[in-house]
Amino acid sequence: MIMEGKKGVVLGIANKKSIAYGIAKACQEQGAQMAITFLNERFEGKLAPIAQELECGNSFYPCDVSKPEEIEALRHSLEKDMGQIDFIVHSIAFAPKEGLSGRFVDIPKEAFDVAMDISVFSLIEITKALKPILSSRSSILTLSYYGGEKYIPNYNLMGVAKAALEMTVRYLAEDLGKDGIRVNAISAGPIKTLAAAGIGEFSFMLKWNAAHAPLKENVTIEQVGNSGMYLLSDLSSGVTGEIHYVDAGYNIMGMPAITEDENGKQQIAWNGES
Ligand code: NAP
Repeated sequence: MIMEGKKGVVLGIANKKSIAYGIAKACQEQGAQMAITFLNERFEGKLAPIAQELECGNSFYPCDVSKPEEIEALRHSLEKDMGQIDFIVHSIAFAPKEGLSGRFVDIPKEAFDVAMDISVFSLIEITKALKPILSSRSSILTLSYYGGEKYIPNYNLMGVAKAALEMTVRYLAEDLGKDGIRVNAISAGPIKTLAAAGIGEFSFMLKWNAAHAPLKENVTIEQVGNSGMYLLSDLSSGVTGEIHYVDAGYNIMGMPAITEDENGKQQIAWNGES
């Protein structure tokens, strides 16, 4: 029971396919007590059974991160119901669809501002709002993707947001380290979720990753969940400011791997040629 005695809040569960659900489940299985949030009344009913499964009790609150008053209300609710907390999971991202396909140069400013506000600034805002109730050995976790480091087709605006998010993790980690607060990100491989469905040609990304990652498969929310739980627990007490890859090893590859043909001859295959 690695998370026994730990209390926290998880933002970003849309359904049981969400990465945040995988992390919350892993934390619950290891003894954590949790609050979860939902975006608005439309999602409250859908999330209620998940809140029950995760044994959240009354700790099930609305929080649209584009509304500062809801973040403030979240702090009051958490303080009232849980007192101090030890971890925060920020598993939230949004970009308008015109930022997730087409030509990068055509991204409208309004789309850029929305994506940066919800996917990046919200981490700073939530951290600042919840800091007064964070314990002196607490851990904050957010979710990133390799498209924040390298070009990925159609990831476009979200790539810029993830790059900013990763730097936000490092600056927050330095700023909050003296208060005993750690801040890390997991850079997860592609997983079929609601948010991922908005990215153009996402199913090709899944196929490409499984074909080219060293482990020759895509990762699951259980795998990301277990790694997330480690980063939220005291097992990672010496780790902060890290971007931890949980991507079946995809990020280490510079070119497709060498394979052997039926005669044992080594080859690199691409587009029917080798
Ligand atoms: P998901 O299940 O759709 O989760 C995204 C969550 O963000 C949803 O719960 C969504 O709420 C929430 N959200 C969006 N706008 C919000 C707002 N204004 N206020 C509060 N919450 C808001 O998809 P996911 O793939 O698990 O995404 C979680 C994180 O993982 C994201 O940061 C994503 O970029 C990252 N990630 C995903 C992948 C992947 O391939 N799936 C890979 C690497 C990183 P509603 O659904 O209620 O709108």
